[in-house]
Amino acid sequence: MRRIAAKFAASLLLGSALIHPADAQAGPKPSSSQLPANDAAIEARVEALLAKMTAEEKAGQLSQFFYFAQIPAMAKGVDDQIAAGKAGSILFTTDPKLLNRAQKMAVEQTRLKIPLLVGFDVIHGLHTIFPVPLAMAASWDLKLVERSQAVAAQEARAVGIHWTFAPNVDVALDARWGRIVEGAGEDPYLGSAMAAAQVRGFQGSYIGAPSHIIAGPKHFAGYGAAMGGRDYDQSEISENQLHNLYLPPFKAAIDAGAGNIMAAYMALNGVPAAGNHRLLTDTLRTEWGFRGWVVSDAGGVDALRTHGIAKDGTEAAVKAISAGTNMEMVPPGQKAHMPSLAAAITEGKLTTAELDAMVRPVLAAKFRMGLFENPYVDEARAAKVLADPAHAVAARAAAERSAVLLRNEGDLLPLDRRKVRSLAVIGPLADSQRDMLGPWIFSMNNPSAESLLAGIRAKVGQGVTVSYSEGVRIPARVNPSPFDMMDGKRTKPEPIDEDAEIAKSVALARQSDAAILVLGEAQNMSGEKASRASFDLPGRQKELLDAVVATGKPVVVVLMSARPLTVQDSKAAAILDIWYPGSQGAAAAANLLFGDAVPGGKLPISWVRSAAQTPMTYARLPSHDPTDAAKRYQEGSNEPAWPFGFGLSYTSFAYSNLKVLTPKVAHGSPVNITVDVANSGPRSGDEVAQLYIHQKHGTSSRPVRQLKGFERVTLKPGEKRTLTFTLSPEDLRYWSDATRSWIEDSSDFEVWVGGDSTASLGGSFEVGER
Ligand code: BGC
Repeated sequence: MRRIAAKFAASLLLGSALIHPADAQAGPKPSSSQLPANDAAIEARVEALLAKMTAEEKAGQLSQFFYFAQIPAMAKGVDDQIAAGKAGSILFTTDPKLLNRAQKMAVEQTRLKIPLLVGFDVIHGLHTIFPVPLAMAASWDLKLVERSQAVAAQEARAVGIHWTFAPNVDVALDARWGRIVEGAGEDPYLGSAMAAAQVRGFQGSYIGAPSHIIAGPKHFAGYGAAMGGRDYDQSEISENQLHNLYLPPFKAAIDAGAGNIMAAYMALNGVPAAGNHRLLTDTLRTEWGFRGWVVSDAGGVDALRTHGIAKDGTEAAVKAISAGTNMEMVPPGQKAHMPSLAAAITEGKLTTAELDAMVRPVLAAKFRMGLFENPYVDEARAAKVLADPAHAVAARAAAERSAVLLRNEGDLLPLDRRKVRSLAVIGPLADSQRDMLGPWIFSMNNPSAESLLAGIRAKVGQGVTVSYSEGVRIPARVNPSPFDMMDGKRTKPEPIDEDAEIAKSVALARQSDAAILVLGEAQNMSGEKASRASFDLPGRQKELLDAVVATGKPVVVVLMSARPLTVQDSKAAAILDIWYPGSQGAAAAANLLFGDAVPGGKLPISWVRSAAQTPMTYARLPSHDPTDAAKRYQEGSNEPAWPFGFGLSYTSFAYSNLKVLTPKVAHGSPVNITVDVANSGPRSGDEVAQLYIHQKHGTSSRPVRQLKGFERVTLKPGEKRTLTFTLSPEDLRYWSDATRSWIEDSSDFEVWVGGDSTASLGGSFEVGER
């Protein structure tokens, strides 16, 4: 998303929509979504087409251009490339009419009539916006995640998009890195499950399935380890961490059939990702059997020059191709380098066979998506799909299920509508529609959301007096976000007198039965180029919070952010984290506040006490001094404020009767565990039962705890359920730097099941030789 022209700020109206012709003719149904080896028909079509192509035309298929078709001056250059057969793919147009126009140029004006593959960042919805991906991970609900991305795919496919640059499966232990918002947090097991669920949601059961699009997991690999949490900085990752932490979600996404992969920007251990043969060829293709195509990140091929591994554009293109990058994503104003491959062949720097190998999966994707049969979408149908009321219902469920209740002293929540007759709603995010949506949404898709204030007013109706005060402002970023310009024209709000506003907030709280403070970070403080060095509430929010708490009135903090903010020392009785909840976030949060929905989400990250504690993971190694593990800093505890997996409910749960059914197993055999979980509180609610293991001895030192199973269950008051977890041999293996290989040790293991990563109900088992 770098280098996006300011002109793009203009927002677009989407066209409208009917039958989806491409949907109507889905291709053959292979069992896996990658090109099956026996899919002779597709292979034959690819070979027949390839045989007719010149080297220039092949290079054209490997070039993807940012295409802002709604801005004719910006579109002109790309239009020319399309008409000349020099563009294989475009991104960033979402208007079906404009996409049909582009396809018509490709299909009618080029010699070989090859349709375009249309990509876009469908990260957490296209028009209907779901909670940000980190929030979706907090739902620990794989079906919900799959369904949500299926809705996003449906909307995208309806407008003419074939491929999303998602899911982001970058594991991140460091929330200073703003892109933690796009992933599933710190854990490779949860991250792998979320990665696979999203791929299934986007793609359906095969590539080319009606109303689905191709998934492009990113950013391969190690982007989440950006040094110091500074976006784009290098990642230095040990083999141990690479295999056990950063690669597993990618492997899971590939195993789920992802058709595309995006290479990362940064250098991993000194080798830039788009030119990293070890990653893109040895690991991805040779070891994992990936048969789709790899796209560079925006400008990632050109960046091989700035990284310092290519002296010019031609060398960058040759290095990228030779490493395993099939397609170059070309940002606006940048020269495409893939066209230089034709000359590189003549000069003997690349062979035709090497070039062909990179073009094949791109053509195969186009055949499998049915684009040669019908490259167009029905413009009249698109608007109907986007307006489908079922999508809003899905988004609301997702927002309700992803919220995490961090604190609820004296059972302040849910608020009792019969008792609370007046409510002060306070804070810089209380009346913001835009922030509800979060980052990675674009104004041209006309996403909309109500503010939380509006949601609360709608919920309580006339009978409850709701007063509002903004309190303080979130200061503008010193280094602005490149995404702000994508938000369309915004009128700058009048400045406020914060001292007066804080005094007003206090007065309103005093007059009210309770106060709800909506605090956190503006949405542009997370995402790309959105790292932070502090996790304090930005601006004077802490002062506002303390002043309102000092009134003695019951205070609920509703937090909006995608990183742990330093709020644990506040005396607010209740803290509900709603992340950035999306289109239906206001109604969902109001339901949660007033008990029409019950929070059941759990943290997918350790909630550190301050930015100084990062990077952080609950899955640390025991070390020589495990007893003092919480005292590593002289100032106090280095335990997080709230642990990984934590989240409260309006009811309570009790775990009992953990049984390891297979206390002694041979390598290769599953381990079965059962546990009872009961709703021990007064109302129905959801619990996410989590299973953690620890391998006590073996070839490498193993984490004190590792998540290896989870299940979200709904239980009525008094209801008890026996859950069964099965640990597979895969769950027990790991990569050891001692042997530089995957290992299954004979060892003793501890196992725990409970409501977070500090679960105390445990058992043990032993794994021995066959
Ligand atoms: C981001 C990618 C994104 C691409 C296209 C890049 O800057 O790193 O994640 O898919 O832009 O928008």
